[in-house]
Amino acid sequence: MVWPRPEGPLLPKADVVIEGRRFAAVLTEESPQGPFDLVVEGEGRLLLPGLVNAHTHLAMTLFRGLAQDRPLMQWLTEEVWPREKRLTGEVVYWFSLLGLAEMIKGGTTAFADMYFFMEEVAEAVERAGVRALLSYGVIAPTPERMESELRKAEEFAREWEGRAEGRIRVALSPHAPYTCGPEVWKRAVALARELRIPIHTHLAETKEEVERVRAERGRSPVEWLEELGVFGVPVLAAHCVHLSEKDMEILAAHGVHAVHCPTSNLKLACGIAPVVEMLRTGVNVCLGTDGAGSAGDLNMLEEMRLAALLAKVRTGDPQALSAREALGLATWRGAVALGWGKELGTIEEGRRADGILVRLDRVHLFPDYDPVANLVYAGQAADVEALFVDGRFLLRDGQLQTLDEEEILGRCRELAKKFR
Ligand SMILES: [Zn+2]
Repeated sequence: MVWPRPEGPLLPKADVVIEGRRFAAVLTEESPQGPFDLVVEGEGRLLLPGLVNAHTHLAMTLFRGLAQDRPLMQWLTEEVWPREKRLTGEVVYWFSLLGLAEMIKGGTTAFADMYFFMEEVAEAVERAGVRALLSYGVIAPTPERMESELRKAEEFAREWEGRAEGRIRVALSPHAPYTCGPEVWKRAVALARELRIPIHTHLAETKEEVERVRAERGRSPVEWLEELGVFGVPVLAAHCVHLSEKDMEILAAHGVHAVHCPTSNLKLACGIAPVVEMLRTGVNVCLGTDGAGSAGDLNMLEEMRLAALLAKVRTGDPQALSAREALGLATWRGAVALGWGKELGTIEEGRRADGILVRLDRVHLFPDYDPVANLVYAGQAADVEALFVDGRFLLRDGQLQTLDEEEILGRCRELAKKFR
């Protein structure tokens, strides 16, 4: 599969003119003339397409810092799952807003989220003004559970596709090969075909998962999903850490998008995904933070840096995954993976006006021989000065424009008391 690779998504020191929800002109030389809806001045700043967080669970900001430094299954079964039984729509709504505030301040304009109480997540997205691919996470180890879970996923998908002026799109999310049986996958694929929406799942995250699926199904998780026909629809597959060469060829042949989540993989000691090998095989790789409970934060600049560093140490080659390539993973490749490849991911006339401005006059970003290298290897979330989606500022001069940070912190502080 060949993915459209833009000339260069980066336009340092450019001004952009926005009319309505789209870029009307990109000016690197002359100054903008005439009345326009919005002019974003890039002087002294790095103007970039918005960062795309292609895999997260926003409301898991609730579990940030909870019982950390434990093995994944122990953390999930003893700490997270018992608490998730006590979740309410209100809790999910406010902790989604907390995650959105963090993501907007760190340069993320679009993301893919899989969780529960998705109506509340969607309402939070609508209020914040960002763009999202949302799905209800189906966990159905038994047939009885399957019906009610699939119904919830379908109801949400039918209700929310295209809402928030087209900023919300939906997907179906069988959670993982080890939490959903073959019938769940087949039904989800049939429904995804009918609704013309993608599947967003977890795949090959741990060695244990691969061994378990091999023992139960006689093949790797990737081979098993291929056999079930899952890759006949667009698929966003988070993690993809433990893959054989054959697995990578399967992913590439079907155009599956792999979401590399380096922080989460490191913190849970899952391993290092073969990003360079996947790209070489033709897999579209993008980046995600995973939930803040397992990753700590929702910082896409950090994911970019780790992706570049890990690719080098894994291959033993400092030339592996350059700063520009890492930025591509976080921008246009993520836009392609979320199904917005024709609309987003680069700053070009006619495209949707989503982007960020990063300040360059910081001590840790000086001198600016190569602003992109500086951004990837030295940039911090707080360097993001402005962020806009569909030509509307959600962050300006470092201040949130659509969300009230004090209000969110106040509500979350109260709600978190019940989950200690
Ligand atoms: Zn996840």
